[in-house]
Amino acid sequence: MAKILDTFLNENLQILRDQGLYNEIDAVEGANGPIIQVNGKQLINLSSNNYLGLATNGELKQVAKEAIDKYGVGSGAVRTINGTLDLHVKLEEKLAEFKGTEAAISYQSGFNCNMAAISAVMDKNDAILSDQLNHASIIDGCRLSKAKIIAYNHSDMEDLRAKAKEAKESGLYNKIMVITDGVFSMDGDIAKLPEIVGIAKEFDLITYVDDAHGSGVTGKGKGTVKHFGLEKEIDFQIGTLSKAIGVVGGYVAGKKNLIDWLKVRSRPFLFSTAVTPGDVAAITRAVQLIMDSTELHDKLWENGDYLKAGLKKLGFNIGASETPITPCIIGDEKLTQQFSKRLVEEGVYAKAIVFPTVPKGTGRVRNMPTAAHTKEMLDNALAIYEKVGRELGVI
Ligand code: PMP
Repeated sequence: MAKILDTFLNENLQILRDQGLYNEIDAVEGANGPIIQVNGKQLINLSSNNYLGLATNGELKQVAKEAIDKYGVGSGAVRTINGTLDLHVKLEEKLAEFKGTEAAISYQSGFNCNMAAISAVMDKNDAILSDQLNHASIIDGCRLSKAKIIAYNHSDMEDLRAKAKEAKESGLYNKIMVITDGVFSMDGDIAKLPEIVGIAKEFDLITYVDDAHGSGVTGKGKGTVKHFGLEKEIDFQIGTLSKAIGVVGGYVAGKKNLIDWLKVRSRPFLFSTAVTPGDVAAITRAVQLIMDSTELHDKLWENGDYLKAGLKKLGFNIGASETPITPCIIGDEKLTQQFSKRLVEEGVYAKAIVFPTVPKGTGRVRNMPTAAHTKEMLDNALAIYEKVGRELGVI
């Protein structure tokens, strides 16, 4: 290794370790369900995005196996050469139906989707108004586009309006876009989409909502845009297929001309191999299950409300969550890491989330109850929270 690289890596890794900002990565020894095994130990899992429990759903596993038997394990090429299987076409029709739009396009991941979609439409002559707490993939997608990035304070509609007005009146930009998460993943709060749409209309903004954590969760499962009845108002409804949907991938749903454009201009679609047949088949069935019944959705919310009420009663700071995502905000990074480590030792897998994922000084242990948890699991988790919280002086 080049000496300069070796020195750079060693010095900077040490700084992260000293600051409590180096996340150790655990390997899960089996399925990522409500109970997981890590280092040989069974733990109540409150860390996965498998909101509806679909990642381990028997019907989806069966559908994936059948697709593998028929199509093989790989899709063979990028979508624009011959990697588009009839399975991808069916999936995209289903996603458009799910999101109430004319068309949809799928990508290999939600991260990829943000890199693809923003830069396919926005360029250096444009500006993007971006919520300060937007996900890293949105930030990177914005950077890739080379548009001027104007961050507005989190869900602060006065700040957004002032910045939209200034950008519009400056006359400096051809197009202006406003981008927001639908549900903010670190706090579980919901974007103020009706106000955002109002501001967008006033200043002729393109609207872009990343509903990675909303699909399957809000709007009776159909997402945050549906929750507010704004399907006709939002230009880009994007999301991931890896969280509530339980598999992997990302999508944009919108008007047909937008999707047609993304099919010829978004680079991950053009230059990266299509999602595998087993995954596509499972995703399509998962979307159908969410459309057919709210049973899993209802169970998710019941569990989320139960855990939230329990943590609040114990005296934890659960922030401004409006969804099943429930942070316990601790603040100090080292204490947060220690808290999470003790939870694991006691039997709860709830990971510390610290800078740079969240701002410095707002370290938290984030809980993601799912539809697959039982009341008994949640009660056990709450008892452990109480024990560790008292031991470390957090409550
Ligand atoms: N957008 C948001 C808001 C997310 O929270 C995430 C997942 N962490 C992504 C995009 C990326 O999705 P994926 O994991 O499918 O790449």
